[in-house]
Amino acid sequence: MVKLSRKSILYSALVLSLAGSVLFTSLPVYATSNSSSSSESTSSNEKSDEKTEEEKKAEEAKISAIQSSIANKEQQIKDAEDEKKKINSGLTDIKAIKAKLVAAKASLAQYVKELDENATAIQEKIDSLTEEIKVKEEEIVQAEEDLNEAIEMRDEQYDSMKKRLQVMYENGGDTYYINILTASSSFGDFLNKMDYINEISEYDNKMFEEFAENVEYVEVCKTSLETEKDLLDTTRTAAEEERKALEELISEKEAEIAAYEADIRNQQALIDEYEAYIAEQNSIIAELEKAVALEKENLQSARSYDGGKFCWPAPSYTRISDDYGWRLHPTLNVQKFHNGVDLAAPGGTNILAAYDGKVVGAAYSSTMGNYVMIDHGDGLYTVYMHASSLCVSAGQEVTKGQVIAKVGTTGRSTGNHLHFGVRLNGEYVSPWGYISAP
Ligand SMILES: [Zn+2]
Repeated sequence: MVKLSRKSILYSALVLSLAGSVLFTSLPVYATSNSSSSSESTSSNEKSDEKTEEEKKAEEAKISAIQSSIANKEQQIKDAEDEKKKINSGLTDIKAIKAKLVAAKASLAQYVKELDENATAIQEKIDSLTEEIKVKEEEIVQAEEDLNEAIEMRDEQYDSMKKRLQVMYENGGDTYYINILTASSSFGDFLNKMDYINEISEYDNKMFEEFAENVEYVEVCKTSLETEKDLLDTTRTAAEEERKALEELISEKEAEIAAYEADIRNQQALIDEYEAYIAEQNSIIAELEKAVALEKENLQSARSYDGGKFCWPAPSYTRISDDYGWRLHPTLNVQKFHNGVDLAAPGGTNILAAYDGKVVGAAYSSTMGNYVMIDHGDGLYTVYMHASSLCVSAGQEVTKGQVIAKVGTTGRSTGNHLHFGVRLNGEYVSPWGYISAP
């Protein structure tokens, strides 16, 4: 697990302060132009003639202190780069693990999808079987009714046959035929009547046989329907068992997917942590590189700050609208670092150089607007932002109290004011160590 050192936390604070409400990350590179450096070398030559042995020693000590500070920072940059490399290789490993987990999860999810499709198909089969069984049951009920009806018809036929035979028997064999004979107009008529009686009993027999056959037929139909229904029931039971097994398998696989997801989340959390640490290393490296560049610049500059008090940079100011330090952002509800002092003042009024120095920046940026940056020596700089116009240019020597710009509201600003910042050795510091309100 990544453990953040106290040092890196301190650097994060520095990074945060630089990324505060007024960004100062796009400072231009201060290249000394040939004309200004030649005029400067003349003046420094004059000065060096007056330098005492002690002053020379102090200057040498100062140079060697800056050089060792540069060497120290370069070592820190190397350490931070090494640290970043280590974290990067760890990050590569974690990303590979996560990729494997994601792939395993995807193939498992595909498998579950197929299982789901199977389960759906089986459910459809069960539904259609249930429908078929229902139809079959209705058919069986119908067959039962048909059977009862057929049995009834057969029995009725049997009863009427029985009745007719009984009548014939009760009327007594011979007497019955004699009666028919006497009632007949002729023998021919008698024979006709006898034929008729025979035909009736023959018809009765035929009808009875037909009805009995019908009963048998309906019984066979009903039995076959019941057999079909039994088969459907068996098929449905098997399908239901299959569906149950599938559902168990699906829930088992879903539990495995959930486990993969938890694993992936953990790996992602680790990746986030590593990436945050790498981003932090990058910020540290960037800040150290900036600080080294500034110190190298200081090495070249012969200027030194004598510790004198600054003058108030906006004489027409009405109030301090925002002080240096941490404050709650009014709309974002987060703590932001304000790296300077905001002096509300009417637009177009004077902005003064707080101290003697050399203008190293006089330009426009989208965040700072029209700004001036002055080098006072020994790594001490003042910054003036949001001006409506500039009165100096880069490379120019200025004296304490000289008008360098006019108050405005250019860049990221919500009204006329001077944002006054003080930088020491590459970091913003409280201006109140150098100025006091008039
Ligand atoms: Zn400000």
